[in-house]
Amino acid sequence: MAWERQTVGGLAYLKIPKWSLHGVTAVFSTRDGGVGSPPYSSLNLALHVGDTIDDVLHNRRIFLAGIGRSPEDCVTAEQVHGTAVRFVTEKDRGRGMQDLVSALPSCDGMLTAQDVGLLTFYADCVPVFFFHPRSRIIGLAHAGWRGTAANIVQEMVNRMIQVGADAEECLAAIGPCIGPCCYVVGDSVASIFREKWNEPSVLSETEPGEYSLDLQEANRQLLISAGIRAENISTAQMCTSCHAGEFFSYRREGITGRMAAYIGFS
Ligand SMILES: [Zn+2]
Repeated sequence: MAWERQTVGGLAYLKIPKWSLHGVTAVFSTRDGGVGSPPYSSLNLALHVGDTIDDVLHNRRIFLAGIGRSPEDCVTAEQVHGTAVRFVTEKDRGRGMQDLVSALPSCDGMLTAQDVGLLTFYADCVPVFFFHPRSRIIGLAHAGWRGTAANIVQEMVNRMIQVGADAEECLAAIGPCIGPCCYVVGDSVASIFREKWNEPSVLSETEPGEYSLDLQEANRQLLISAGIRAENISTAQMCTSCHAGEFFSYRREGITGRMAAYIGFS
């Protein structure tokens, strides 16, 4: 199994043990082990969802301490459901970690080859992790339906290739996200996906005008189209909406917290 549950003290998260063997920590948080109150209970890690700032900063320290890092080591971005991808360096450390204004503006994908931890936030959208062992490039992409339709994962691969990586050797992993069991969309979103995926593995009509959309499978297929080998792609196969005790879900709860995806060199 590519993703494994781990518990450190009261903190539970998912990790890719295989990447740890290469010196890369790739982790997805759960909602457990934080200090937040409803509807953010308890480990909300995002500042933009209306939670108490002190609680979020406290939670970030708890989560990062659990994986051996601190907020000063990491960088976050202002996620806008776009396809902008930025390379970050050690100079970006700390951006967005104490406030929203210093986060990288309008950016849904980050890559680095330096010692800076990348953090992005989720409540149903798809976290896609990248690691190219030879060039030591790591990355994270935030793909909701808009980012998936606009193919942010292709943009991530393009940017990696520009700096000497290749898709053939690249490893990718998809973390927990809303599954086709719970993600129902209407005609307007379905028509955008139908243009690319006229097949039931990604989009299937469940009722007249209602469609089940599988964002994990869509991104898996996009990664393969971008040149990443199917056997190098790990999928968590965990629905954030089905698992209420473990994950925040925007679809299920509306106002709620966010989990974090983290990748960094260990
Ligand atoms: Zn579900």
